Amino acid sequence: MSATDRAPSERVDVCVVGAGPAGGIVAHSLAERGHDVVVLEAGPRVPLDERLERMERHQRPAHDWTEVWGMGGDRDAYTSTGDVDYPLNSTRIKGVGGTTLHWIGYTPRLHPKDFEMESRYGLATDWPIAYDDLRPYYAEAESAMGVAGAEDNPFAPPREEPFPMEAFPPSHSDSILDAACEQLDIDVHSVPQARNSEGYDGRSACVGYGTCHPVCPSGAKYDGSVHIRKAESEGARVLDRVPVQRLEHDPEGERVEAAVYATPDGTEHRQEARQFVVACGAIETPRLLLLSKSDIYPDGLANSSGAVGRYLMDHLLYLVTGRLAEPTGQHQVGFSTSVTHQFYDHEESTPGSFFVGFLNYAGPSPVEAALGDGGWGDDITAAMERSYGGHIGTEALVEQLPDPDSRVTLDPSETDDHGNPVPQIHWTVGDHGRATAEKAIRTQRDILEEAGASVDYATPAHSPLSGSHPMGTTRMGDDPDESVVDPRLRTHDLENLTVASSSVFPTGGAMNPTLTIAALTLKAAEHVDADL
Ligand SMILES: Cc1cc2nc3c(=O)[nH]c(=O)nc-3n(C[C@H](O)[C@H](O)[C@H](O)COP(=O)(O)OP(=O)(O)OC[C@H]3O[C@@H](n4cnc5c(N)ncnc54)[C@H](O)[C@@H]3O)c2cc1C
Ligand code: SF4
Repeated sequence: MSATDRAPSERVDVCVVGAGPAGGIVAHSLAERGHDVVVLEAGPRVPLDERLERMERHQRPAHDWTEVWGMGGDRDAYTSTGDVDYPLNSTRIKGVGGTTLHWIGYTPRLHPKDFEMESRYGLATDWPIAYDDLRPYYAEAESAMGVAGAEDNPFAPPREEPFPMEAFPPSHSDSILDAACEQLDIDVHSVPQARNSEGYDGRSACVGYGTCHPVCPSGAKYDGSVHIRKAESEGARVLDRVPVQRLEHDPEGERVEAAVYATPDGTEHRQEARQFVVACGAIETPRLLLLSKSDIYPDGLANSSGAVGRYLMDHLLYLVTGRLAEPTGQHQVGFSTSVTHQFYDHEESTPGSFFVGFLNYAGPSPVEAALGDGGWGDDITAAMERSYGGHIGTEALVEQLPDPDSRVTLDPSETDDHGNPVPQIHWTVGDHGRATAEKAIRTQRDILEEAGASVDYATPAHSPLSGSHPMGTTRMGDDPDESVVDPRLRTHDLENLTVASSSVFPTGGAMNPTLTIAALTLKAAEHVDADL
């Protein structure tokens, strides 16, 4: 594509920044309503027919899996200063499709209690909307993304509509852990996921490559490029490799006038529009607002509350794995088929919510086992047999509460390939998260031990892995002194600037966020449409 193909469009109703699922869904929804839409995306397009080759590259042990989508380097530089390291370059992707290019695809709804943390428990803050306000949009999002699920979860929030597709059946190793849970009076159920259990929306059924994370070559797993293609078929224009450098506002500071973006040759252009939607994920969205500071807004755009970048949350991820004396007969599945939400709707304020999922992990691949052993001949065959077949494991996602000191700021000393300060991430865990983690880890150990496994790894409670679900950095609220966007997701400060991202979550619960992002985005698109 030549630089001129990336020239600004003359007359545009809506400029969307970011082409992940949020950007794709809002672009499609508004283009479908007849509006002229331009999407500006920092990363490249990734043609569908390249994905098989990308999967093959991932399977060779010489290649790190972050190479599959080209994460890292000066473009993606960042610094991490909190009590737990934040691994940004394995938790977000820049490209058409966004981070869902390598997500796993679980799509549970938040529970009603997640919207009412202050009124129920005296913790954190309530959302300015309730579960019932999002309920129709959740159903719309499940249909738009294509969710396979079953109504077998006794702890699930209320729903009226069936899932668009049937759930995936439980795996072989699920049956081992399920039997242990039965002994412990723990109810196990299926996992709703945006992965085709049958042909859906022109995409094939899952064919079991088992490499969903980092790449699904068949297109059976939903990713944001699905809605970008739909938006383009409705007339939207999508420019790739055009990172937006800053947003510029009118002399009064009431409306955004233009998004200034850079093309690969280094030229800057101004894209004007009547409405702007920032959909850059929960790290780059606050960063872009902070980079857009001006004389009227010296602390950054839409930041009169001082909340831009603050209240960064993630889900705390804990793995507990073990070995059985007997082979499990498990194949590498690539996604989980059974979980329990039994511990989600807690009674006391602390410990809080978590859920436990069963990992369909078969152990290291034969190639990894062979190369890792260093032996030859019969020795290596014996080593491979030992390492394959007896693994069993669980993961828990744990709720973390918002804390103003857990935040994204601009690094004062390091810049990216365009000379902009890189994001500095200060991620803290907090006492509530740690106490909840201890209960989650104990529950995971109990399940594995009841199954007869010897536990060989448990993530320490004080040092969680990132759930790859950053949230909270442009929080939603009714009070402009405390929050960045209103319940329509429009910024309090600028009348034509909307944010579509998990960055608007006031609290994050412990459920994977993307279905909620999609539901909120569908709702926000209606409001933007009404304003046009
Ligand atoms: C390993 C992994 C597993 C996951 N599994 C799950 C799961 O099972 N379930 C779940 O719900 N979630 C999961 N997630 C999280 C999920 O991927 C994200 O919640 C989702 O992608 C967020 O969508 P988004 O559109 O808000 O942001 P993103 O998908 O991050 O998209 C943002 C886009 O904006 C672009 N952008 C950023 N800055 C600029 C700029 N200045 N100019 C132009 N473009 C810009 C980026 O390049 C990117 O393409 C997982 C994430 C990871 C990393
Ligand atoms: S298991 Fe299914 S969803 Fe995962 S990579 Fe294979 S085809 Fe795609």
